[in-house]
Amino acid sequence: MAQAIASTNVPRWLPADQLDRLIDVLRADGRTIIGPTVRDGAIVLAEIQGAADLPAGRGDEASPGRYRVTQREDSRRFDHAVGPMSPKRWTFPPRAPIRLGRRTSAGVRFSGVDPRPTPRPTPLAFIGVRACELAAIKIQDHVFLDGPAVDGDYRARRASAFLVAVECATPTSTCFCTSMGTGPEVTTGFDVVLTELDDGFIVRVGSPAGVTVVDALSLSPADGSAMKAAEAVVAGARDAMGSPMNMENVHEGLQASPEHPGWAAVAERCLSCTNCTLVCPTCFCTSVVERSDLDGSISTSERTWDSCFNEGFAKVAGGSFRPLVKDRYRQWLTHKFSTWWDQFGSSGCVGCGRCIAWCPAGIDVREELAVIGGVGPVPMPQLSVVAAATEAPVTISPGSVPAAFVTVHVDGSSRETADTMTLHLNTTDRRLLAGRPGQFVMATLPAFSAAPISISRFRSDGLDLTIRAAGPATRALTELERGSTLGVRGPLGRGWPVEEMTGRDVVIVAGGVGLAPLRPLIDACLAERDALGAVRIYLGARTPTDRLFVEEVGRLALRMDIEVEETVDRAGPVWLGRVGIVTQLFDHATWDGRNAVAFVCGPERMMQATSEVLFSRGIDVDRTWVTLERNMSCGVGLCGHCQLGKFFVCKDGPVFSLAELGPAFTTDGL
Ligand SMILES: Cc1cc2nc3c(=O)[nH]c(=O)nc-3n(C[C@H](O)[C@H](O)[C@H](O)COP(=O)(O)OP(=O)(O)OC[C@H]3O[C@@H](n4cnc5c(N)ncnc54)[C@H](O)[C@@H]3O)c2cc1C
Ligand code: SF4
Ligand code: SF4
Repeated sequence: MAQAIASTNVPRWLPADQLDRLIDVLRADGRTIIGPTVRDGAIVLAEIQGAADLPAGRGDEASPGRYRVTQREDSRRFDHAVGPMSPKRWTFPPRAPIRLGRRTSAGVRFSGVDPRPTPRPTPLAFIGVRACELAAIKIQDHVFLDGPAVDGDYRARRASAFLVAVECATPTSTCFCTSMGTGPEVTTGFDVVLTELDDGFIVRVGSPAGVTVVDALSLSPADGSAMKAAEAVVAGARDAMGSPMNMENVHEGLQASPEHPGWAAVAERCLSCTNCTLVCPTCFCTSVVERSDLDGSISTSERTWDSCFNEGFAKVAGGSFRPLVKDRYRQWLTHKFSTWWDQFGSSGCVGCGRCIAWCPAGIDVREELAVIGGVGPVPMPQLSVVAAATEAPVTISPGSVPAAFVTVHVDGSSRETADTMTLHLNTTDRRLLAGRPGQFVMATLPAFSAAPISISRFRSDGLDLTIRAAGPATRALTELERGSTLGVRGPLGRGWPVEEMTGRDVVIVAGGVGLAPLRPLIDACLAERDALGAVRIYLGARTPTDRLFVEEVGRLALRMDIEVEETVDRAGPVWLGRVGIVTQLFDHATWDGRNAVAFVCGPERMMQATSEVLFSRGIDVDRTWVTLERNMSCGVGLCGHCQLGKFFVCKDGPVFSLAELGPAFTTDGL
């Protein structure tokens, strides 16, 4: 096939007045044509009927916080740079239905995979796609299609998209593709590429689909003078952008500067308006919105664009992990230019400059990179956005990911505290039953958002979930009675490294509802008791009535082969045990942790304090494991909510060793 492309890849000539022939061939193939057109004072992408809709004779100017359409003397159709919209608007639309939930007489049902294409997308042909946009599509392809989880909706849309690229001739002052190694030359990822001259187009093909389309046009080969003029077009665009920035140190520079004063300085100007993320062709963060009929018996889960600049984006029950604008700007810039490399093996920025032009505060990422990321003006070999990363992407736990919600039955429930219930669920789903201690599921009911919930016990015929009513979804789950059903997807994430316990002393520390994900680990300790050294369990709760699994803990405390110590922050009238925070339980401990492995779960501050105490007792950072809570919409690394530095907590964790987390564990606002 490659030979077929090569043999037909003689550049052809398409006269300017015959551009409609190309559009007609694409339309005859059943495609809707998306191309640039002038609307509301900008060159936007929209459905076009023919070449007459293209912005002939119009150009554009852009600078930080400013964009204008201009009028030129000639009638070329593509002599403009990128406007506010990119093909992302169609390949990854702002709203897409992903799941249908129904309450039926047989229980709740969730149809389709998550996400799924509904309805099947119309095949599209994009005309006028720039080199930076092709690079952005390639980046999104990697995020959505290269797993472990795959976005089915994106896959369907991309599979049917035909890309007619155009070589850039007139970059604006906000373009910096030369610094990101993505342009201006179109080199890869297109079906057909055009270079526009005054009287026509040089046409080249880049895929078998492109060969078919261009063959149907029966064009003559382009002549030598046209080819020379075409080369000059692209060379002119490159020259116009000036020297590329030196991006050599930016990957390390940004990650090494979480406390740089530049973050606070830019936050003084940033409105946290989200514009930059919405215009960016690679940003992929989403949330799921539930739309239901009045009685909640039918609901549609809709994936919608979200932004790391929204305050609620990183919110969990205890508050937001990024409460300050400075935290959110740092997350965005560091992700784009640094941690994206760790996660996906490329930059997350293609240098299109949209975020600069469309920022109402006129914030220019290039200036922020110079201040904070150590970016210099000296031309240097560039990081190629499509080149392999020097290090493999960070994903720790690849493997196939359960895509669909399965219906599970509530066999019974136990009240743990005033607001916390344990649901005993029955299922025959082999994947769920084969989960590991520390893994979680997404649990949902029609009309409620899906909540990540740790598995608090594995049984041969099902599993337990211990749920605190923190909001509407978790409240609805805690109210389920025997015989009801719910939807569960999982098991997800990386669990506790149970094998690390063999031959070692084991220290388990839980704060409050943090005991839930540790309970399967305690079960594993009991099952493997003879293969372990000392087993010590330290439990803290706010008050005696906030303690979980009280009877079970009581039985554990009676065993001679396990030490259990408990404390509460505030005692009640009937509490005769210890009072104080959980770290105080270690005050009188005499054990030596050099052959111990520790597992900790609780509020993040409690885990930080506990880790310090464990370290002082000899348990090194690579033998201390914590499980983290972050906001999660999808649970499989596609929604972007749970990022912590280079990690997606949902798929790289939620269990991490302190050695893996490094400073990310203790840096505020990450
Ligand atoms: C890996 C993981 C395991 C978890 N395991 C358990 C568990 O075993 N038991 C348990 O009771 N809770 C657990 N949680 C927390 C639980 O997911 C949230 O309390 C729940 O999502 C809140 O949803 P809601 O709709 O009821 O409340 P909402 O009204 O949506 O939110 C209530 C509060 O919780 C925050 N929140 C919303 N969504 C999330 C989210 N996805 N993650 C965290 N906080 C959120 C909100 O910002 C708000 O402050 C876990 C969270 C994670 C990330
Ligand atoms: S970060 Fe800015 S310049 Fe980079 S791809 Fe996104 S919008 Fe374009
Ligand atoms: S950097 Fe600009 S566009 Fe982005 S959130 Fe801040 S003010 Fe809005």
